[in-house]
Amino acid sequence: MIKIEKLHKSYPIGKDSLHVLKGLDLHIKEGEFVAIMGSSGSGKSTLLNIVGLLDAHDSGNYYLNGQLIENLDERKAAILRNKFLGFVFQSFNLINYKNALENVALPLYYSGMGRKERNEIAMQYLEKVGLADWATHLPSELSGGQKQRVAIARALVTKPKVVLADEPTGALDSSTSHSVMELLKEINREGMTVFVITHEEDIAEETDRIVRLKDGVIISDEKTLKKSKV
Ligand code: ATP
Ligand code: MG
Repeated sequence: MIKIEKLHKSYPIGKDSLHVLKGLDLHIKEGEFVAIMGSSGSGKSTLLNIVGLLDAHDSGNYYLNGQLIENLDERKAAILRNKFLGFVFQSFNLINYKNALENVALPLYYSGMGRKERNEIAMQYLEKVGLADWATHLPSELSGGQKQRVAIARALVTKPKVVLADEPTGALDSSTSHSVMELLKEINREGMTVFVITHEEDIAEETDRIVRLKDGVIISDEKTLKKSKV
């Protein structure tokens, strides 16, 4: 699903450049649930942004769903993102003046779907994340965990193949974090590939595989010791 070979990425800093990803190799198969860990500044978000076609790599190969990603302009990147990818962020990134249902329906608006159908589908996803009763509430009226559920519903509404989550539990308390991870697990069991960045070891342990990043390369890549995946 995601295949990366010898990926390099630098950022220009003043007259210098900061080499962040230094020849990274990673292969994530369809249906995997993978966590990426590493200290602050190790390049986790940089990697996720490249995988998510939000940023471009400098060299190396990136294949998304078998397609070599190169020379994408923003329009082509947006088309591929809408087709294949869903995003979840630490800070939820909900639109404050839109209610829960409207937030979830938004990606469908961009894909040109009519209002009635949009709202019907968005409602199904709000039900899926357990928030049907909160459809008309604004983000300011929701708890952090509820906001993240809305964000997950929004990520799923276009039926992506991969969900990319950058510290989805970073702003949540421990028990809310675990319930958000339960939801991601459920989505994964239904066949979705899930790629999540986290700082927390016990959150990473809820996935199937932990990839550790240090100094721009992967230093370990191991299956988790989960009792069972029921
Ligand atoms: P954290 O755990 O704190 O989120 P991270 O592993 O996600 O860290 P990145 O955000 O990928 O780290 O950043 C890696 C390095 O690249 C950092 O030194 C950061 O300052 C730098 N960096 C990230 N984005 C940019 C950018 N757009 N321009 C310049 N430098 C950047
Ligand atoms: Mg980060």
